[in-house]
Amino acid sequence: MSSKPSPSPPETLCIRGHGLAGALLAETASAAGFRVRVHDTGLPAASRVAAGLFTPVTGQRLRLSWEAENALPLCHHVYPELEKTLGVSFYTRLPTLRIFTSAAQRREWAEKPCADCVREAPIPDLPVHAPHGGVWIDGGGWVNVPVLLDALKARRIDRGEWGDDPDADLRIDCTGHHAAAHPLWHEAGWRNAHGEVLTVEIPGLPPEQIYSFDKFLMPLGRDHFRLGATYTWDETRPSPTPGGRTALEAALRAFTDLPFRVIDHQAGIRPVALARVPIAGPHPEHPREWILNGFGSKGVLYGPWMCRHLIEHWRRHAPLHKETWAPRRLLRQRDRTQTRQNKQHIKTAQRIAAPDNG
Ligand SMILES: Cc1cc2nc3c(=O)[nH]c(=O)nc-3n(C[C@H](O)[C@H](O)[C@H](O)COP(=O)(O)OP(=O)(O)OC[C@H]3O[C@@H](n4cnc5c(N)ncnc54)[C@H](O)[C@@H]3O)c2cc1C
Repeated sequence: MSSKPSPSPPETLCIRGHGLAGALLAETASAAGFRVRVHDTGLPAASRVAAGLFTPVTGQRLRLSWEAENALPLCHHVYPELEKTLGVSFYTRLPTLRIFTSAAQRREWAEKPCADCVREAPIPDLPVHAPHGGVWIDGGGWVNVPVLLDALKARRIDRGEWGDDPDADLRIDCTGHHAAAHPLWHEAGWRNAHGEVLTVEIPGLPPEQIYSFDKFLMPLGRDHFRLGATYTWDETRPSPTPGGRTALEAALRAFTDLPFRVIDHQAGIRPVALARVPIAGPHPEHPREWILNGFGSKGVLYGPWMCRHLIEHWRRHAPLHKETWAPRRLLRQRDRTQTRQNKQHIKTAQRIAAPDNG
């Protein structure tokens, strides 16, 4: 933990972007007594296509996610409380059935079982292919993010908090992947990831759990499931692609013999920071300009936790997590860029000094 305290607590905040990050920050800050305004230009938002899953573990090895032990309890508190405040339902706790897709994957997990939240238990009789068995993951679930965003937008409008405020004490960038093109924030270091999801109808697939295999299947009710997600780094437009649909359908066919029907196909761009953890804090040279961004594929898990940290920082100068601290991240990224450029200059100079005569 290493961040310098701000000189005096801000009173007014202008949040740029009402995706999950901006919406959660606006609500948390408004409830904490800050004067808030939210401004959104209506550009494509990852939050509008996110499946909304959250889980304590990550990757093929099922390791505990970074800071999940702190972030997860807040999810279980903040989202149900918001449901009560907003009078809408968007939060579902569900176990995940993780199906191993190879013997190696199973061995790897068995050699180093990780978190308490992963338990070995018999897999019920299900119409899915699971020759290598699987495990159950507890503690997760999903948030219907578009429902949450619509309810929070209505609340901001009701409270007169919707719209720009150029004179606010702080302006906070919550613009998701768009920050990578922002003059102040592009140098934070981004590797945004295009992703696609399908909504599919699969009559006969039990909806009591989330299924995780190469992909995930999340039950939506009435035999509908969200199937996702793809990851690609060379596609910069947030549009669905035929290749994405083919890949998702192939994964589903390998998972179950049940017939299915595709109902919807969506795509978005995840805001992924090179450091692979969210970023928060002021710009090193522009102290009124702040950022809360870089949630990658874990906005639902980290959103409430990061917002709480920011509020504590503004109110009581509590330090933000060192790894997320924006000035450190920007300065490190500048150093890396500088080192890369220096190496290139040296290579060029060496090439000029010793030209290839062959
Ligand atoms: C296919 C897919 C599946 C995913 N599944 C999950 C999942 O299961 N679980 C999970 O936790 N995460 C998931 N994610 C990731 C999740 O979507 C992100 O972590 C999260 O939504 C990022 O929210 P955000 O508010 O930072 O950005 P966004 O949701 O992209 O919102 C940015 C907002 O900023 C606005 N904006 C842009 N520029 C400006 C400007 N100059 N001024 C004002 N407003 C501006 C835009 O209009 C937009 O509303 C998924 C993402 C994708 C693409």
